[in-house]
Parts: sequence; structure tokens; C-alpha cells
Amino acid sequence: MIDAHGLQCLIDALSQDGRRVVGPTVRDEAIVYDDIAGLGSLPRGWTDRQEAGRYALERREDEACFGYVVGPHSWKKFLFPPVETLWKARREDDGTMAVSRPERPADRFAFIGVRACEIEAIAIQDRVFEQGPYTDTAYAARRSDAFIVAVNCGQAGGTCFCVSMETGPRATHGFDLALTEMIEGAEHRFLVEIGSEEGRSVMAQVPHVRADEARIGAASAIVERTAAQMGRHLDTDGLKELLQGNLEHPRWDDVADRCLTCANCTMVCPTCFCSTVEDHSDLANREAERVRKWDSCFTMDFSYIHGGSVRASTASRYRQWMTHKLANWIDQFGTSGCVGCGRCITWCPVGIDLTQEAAAIRATPGEGRS
Ligand code: SF4
Ligand code: SF4
Repeated sequence: MIDAHGLQCLIDALSQDGRRVVGPTVRDEAIVYDDIAGLGSLPRGWTDRQEAGRYALERREDEACFGYVVGPHSWKKFLFPPVETLWKARREDDGTMAVSRPERPADRFAFIGVRACEIEAIAIQDRVFEQGPYTDTAYAARRSDAFIVAVNCGQAGGTCFCVSMETGPRATHGFDLALTEMIEGAEHRFLVEIGSEEGRSVMAQVPHVRADEARIGAASAIVERTAAQMGRHLDTDGLKELLQGNLEHPRWDDVADRCLTCANCTMVCPTCFCSTVEDHSDLANREAERVRKWDSCFTMDFSYIHGGSVRASTASRYRQWMTHKLANWIDQFGTSGCVGCGRCITWCPVGIDLTQEAAAIRATPGEGRS
């Protein structure tokens, strides 16, 4: 076990190892992920309240460092940055072209406060970027040396459904260290579970004491209580077949009447990986660069193919997103594309909730079929 001083020592040890330490902090009235220097950067004493289309920070009655759920950011913004230069070209005076690739980032990340559902989301992006026929070398370089400090959830949010997706709230793998935050009166401690040899070697530099059975049991009870608090539920039984068999269901038109095609849901989703490329050149036509940017299946341009978009209607775009995420992803990658973090529900400006949309189709399967 470690106390708050031990947590600071852990952050210091990772920083002194040359890592870029990233974790939760309060900014713009939300808990976001950014570079942190220590305990003072963490959202100590803050929690979040989430519902469909709603997010608010509130003070807690204690000084918990991880007493919130998940915010609008996910770790993908570090491993798969929103904007990335792929190559640059320069026309030399003699008319030849010099093409160069940007130097690969030197960042050795340490992520502090990764939730169980987020570990699963990173694993999904690993499948996309590293385990398919082509490897995204920039992603692989950032991912290969990332040190993960997971935090088991001590509370569930109003839009969470990780229990339905079997992705949380306890981190069971994919971490170097996993913390469970425990506050009992004036005592503020973290149970630490070691998940890798690197995690063990970092912990050797951090003052700690051996946890007794009572503390281990109390930490398990915290996570079990969280599992019982889920704000949402998604019935995944036969969901792939249900969605794939209801492509003409009238519910797609119903959701299209509400959906703004703003793409918020895809931007906040920790597993969405779609991107586009743009070519830019200077006015003198001497320098050019190709840039990769996050894109979304909700934009008209995303499915534009010589002459028009193949998904011109809002209904077709929402259907594409939800059926890909919850059904076709399983055919493609062998797993659901959803980890139940609830971000797409919280950050949808009109509060569209994919668990409700799936339930509505389940309630009236076969409608709309000719
Ligand atoms: S689809 Fe929604 S709930 Fe599922 S992982 Fe993406 S943001 Fe989270
Ligand atoms: S479902 Fe909500 S967040 Fe997603 S595109 Fe539609 S309005 Fe935007």
C-alpha cells in the first residue's frame, strides 16, 4: 500500500525515468488528461456528475484524487494524436523534390489513472493499428513503451455500462500498476497491484507497506460496489445479429430526427479510429505536407466517393456508426467496438443514448422489413 506521499513518489520515479507523465487534471470545467507534475495537478476533491447530454463537476466531501469517472478525453489523443504530419516535401532550387518523414516522437509515456474500460479501449486500438495487416509505426512507437498506472473505479457514472460490456470496473490485465483508492476517515491510501516486471521495479523506488487481508478485502468491496452502481445497461445477448438484421428499422429515422451529425460521439469515443488525410502547400509552391486528422463517419465527406457521399442521410450515418461499433466490429476485429465508457452518451449535445437505441430496436425487431 502507498499513501498520498507514495503516490507523489511514484509520479516522481516515472518522471525521473525520463517519462512524460500524463494524468487527470481539471481544466475548462472538466476532468481532462494532460501533463501532470504531481498530486497538485490531480483533480483532488472533485467528482463529475454525468447524464445523457450533461456533465458537471462538483466538490467531493473528501480529498480523493481519482473520485470521478471519465471525462471527454481519452488516452487515444496521446497514442493516436488528433493531427499528425505524415510527410513533408520541399522543392529544391534545382527542381528536385526532397521528401522527408517527421522524426518519430521521443515521448515515453506514463499514463496515470487509466480506467479498466480504457485499458480495453487501448487494446482495441492496438488491434487496429498494430495487429492488422499493416502496422502504424508511429502508434506502435508511442504504445510500445507506455507505462500504465490503472485505477480501479470507486464509483460509476450515470452513463457507465462497463459491466454490460465486461470491461470493468476492475482492471484485470494490461497495466504495470493498478491502484484502488481507499479513504477511511483521515486515512488516505492506495492498494497497489503489480502487473509487470517494470511495475515491480518502479514500486521498489516508492515507499510502501505490505497490505493485509482486511485491506485487500476492503479494496475488492469498493470495486464490487461500483459494479452495482452502473448508470446504464446494454443487453449484448444476440446484439450483433439483432442490429445486422434490422438495417431498415424505423428507429434509424427516429434517431435521425434528433441527431445533429456533430460527430461529438466519435471524437470522445476511446475506440473510434477513423481518420482522413489533407495535403497542404505553401503559397510559393515550394513546401508541402500531408497531415492525418481524426475524422468521423458522421461527416458527409467521410464517405464521399467520386460524385457523392454513399451515406447521404443522417439515418444512414448513425446506423453505420452504431452497427459498426456494436456489431460489424465483432466480424472485423473479433470484439465489440464499445467498452461501455458512456462518453458518447454524456457528450452528445442532444443526449442520444446508444443503449436506449439498441433497446428500442430489441423491443420491436423486424419492424420496417418489407
Ligand atoms: S461507443 Fe460510446 S460507450 Fe462505447 S466506447 Fe465509444 S464512447 Fe464509450
Ligand atoms: S449521436 Fe449525438 S453526438 Fe453523435 S453525431 Fe448525433 S448529435 Fe452528435
